[in-house]
Amino acid sequence: MKVQFSGNNANVDNAVERTNELLQDPAFFDAIRAHPKFDRSTATPVQIADLMQQSATVVEVKLYKSKWPLSKALAYEDHNYPNTVFLNSRRLDRSLASICATIVHECVHAVDALDKDLRFGHGGNDPNGKENTAPYWIGDLAYEMISGKPATFAQVFADMDSEWA
Ligand SMILES: [Zn+2]
Repeated sequence: MKVQFSGNNANVDNAVERTNELLQDPAFFDAIRAHPKFDRSTATPVQIADLMQQSATVVEVKLYKSKWPLSKALAYEDHNYPNTVFLNSRRLDRSLASICATIVHECVHAVDALDKDLRFGHGGNDPNGKENTAPYWIGDLAYEMISGKPATFAQVFADMDSEWA
């Protein structure tokens, strides 16, 4: 799979480029495969890594502006548009790795939505206790591989989604 962005934002351009490098990196998928188990998932980590690595899906990144200026939502997915990730343009003043983690988190949802049989979401929007679901754990992994630092889950992902699950 890969992501693309045709809007006008340098931070998002950089994040999309870096995310695409990660999505071509066998070490990223090997790290997913080496994880024992995800919560709330009918798929094994190996199945999820295979789906992501083998998918020809192109995920489109688009920007939206939350109505509420102080909204903590970083992004959302709409199940009517499973190949589109919507990033909150009010929340782009953060690190490259953090934006990449958000994109990768939503890419996991996109692959989940496109597979009819397997389910690997995280339930509702409260991120507490969701660290070991596939979207959050794989987003954390992206953050760690890109930043070279441990992911601080609560900071990077707090109130991340306003989305279907
Ligand atoms: Zn999510």
